[in-house]
Amino acid sequence: MPHTTRRQLLQRASLLLAAPAFVRHARAAEIPRFALGVASGQPRADGMVLWTRLTGAELPPRVPVDWELADDEAFTRIVARGREEAEAAWAHSVHAEPAGLASDRWYFYRFRALGQQSRSGRTRTAPAPDAAATLRLAIASCQRWDQGHYAAWRHAAAASLDCMAFLGDYIYESASPADAPRRHDGGRLRSLDDYRARYAQYKSDPALQDAHAACPWLLVWDDHEVENDYAGSMATTPRGLDMAALRAAAYQAYWEHQPFAKAQRPRGMDMRIYGRLDWGRLARIHLLDDRQYRDPQACPAPPHTSGSNAVLLRDCPALADPARTLLGREQEQWLADGWSLERPWNLLAQQTLMARYTSRPEGRYWTDGWDGYAAARQRLLAPVAARRVPGVVALGGDVHAHFVADLKADFDDAKSPIVASEFCGTSISSRGGDQRRVEAALALNPHLHYAHADQRGYMAFEIGPRELKASVLAVEQPLDPASAVQVAARFVVDAARPGPQRA
Ligand code: FE
Ligand code: CA
Repeated sequence: MPHTTRRQLLQRASLLLAAPAFVRHARAAEIPRFALGVASGQPRADGMVLWTRLTGAELPPRVPVDWELADDEAFTRIVARGREEAEAAWAHSVHAEPAGLASDRWYFYRFRALGQQSRSGRTRTAPAPDAAATLRLAIASCQRWDQGHYAAWRHAAAASLDCMAFLGDYIYESASPADAPRRHDGGRLRSLDDYRARYAQYKSDPALQDAHAACPWLLVWDDHEVENDYAGSMATTPRGLDMAALRAAAYQAYWEHQPFAKAQRPRGMDMRIYGRLDWGRLARIHLLDDRQYRDPQACPAPPHTSGSNAVLLRDCPALADPARTLLGREQEQWLADGWSLERPWNLLAQQTLMARYTSRPEGRYWTDGWDGYAAARQRLLAPVAARRVPGVVALGGDVHAHFVADLKADFDDAKSPIVASEFCGTSISSRGGDQRRVEAALALNPHLHYAHADQRGYMAFEIGPRELKASVLAVEQPLDPASAVQVAARFVVDAARPGPQRA
């Protein structure tokens, strides 16, 4: 029972103990089949993807699953319904794709299978591409299970968002230390069943389930969905694993557990997650993949032959090598060809801090982020300035710290123009770095407006045609699942002028 969490096992054991012998034959009907909740994603003007995954033992190889979508929470006005086959080969996951829906509307959805019904979820369509619109969007990342609780998700689930963008590190692949506040089931992930079980454990959290059920999500992965610091098909630390097989297993489990379309189902070790969607006349959202197509990190720390490092620029000329790419040439070109010049906002939903961050006056950089691929960053930002691409806002995660920054044509030149804005959100629960070090680096990075490694949380945005308002959200007690969440800072970006301002 690899895809069964400890909690479900306990629930099932208590059911069995409580059941008199004569009703034991009804056991299969009592196994929770929708224990991982529901989710929706990829809102388009006429549809979205609805997700669930059947759980528990004794599932047939193929199970018909009925879904329905309604205008109202009581499901009295059904606007679409259908049937999907949940297959054992794909972990009995369901990826339903209602189409032909009215744009810019909220809907409710639920599933039925094996005599049981799922909870209902709330989802919506995007506004039509030519319609006036506003958008309430949030970004989140890095929800390491064994380093904290999910008070941030409780808060996000109640935040009346149109859409949540999850920017990577949905699971972590490692085993847990004995003193962790809550522990990963199982050890380091190696097989498809391992990855499936880890997703099931994370998705057993009720606050995360509520956040998925509250609005449609957009998702991109970072490294930990496969392995720390992996680059393309290069593993960080060779440990006798076939990296291609590991990546294929990890990508399959990722697809199985998220609201991705059937057409995105991975083939072997390849899965396309980059793409874009338009939110009316307001915004184009570009979803990027910084892992699958990247070159290996420059100058790994000896004795390692790959992986991240923090290096002085003068010791690592490869940092400036224009041949190196973070997105891959094809995705770089796709991005350069796809900016919206008509809409006021181009939102880049990507993984990590884009602004330059040096920890020494002479230039010392972390090689896994954009600083490790500075020429590729320049190739992305230079045309933004030259073509006056409107309202470019980089959204990120990965660094376990809140950063708000100006993105500049040349970070080494104080007079260089600001060409875009950046909001890099902190982790939901993963531990952050040393705040004193971050503060010491602020003077070396004057384009940073805000930097807090000592906050867990997420960021929320209210976006209109003239301005983007940002709230930096911080969890008071990361080890308390019921903790309050506070607005730690507010910023605004004027659509006519790149660069976040304190509000
Ligand atoms: Fe992380
Ligand atoms: Ca990461």
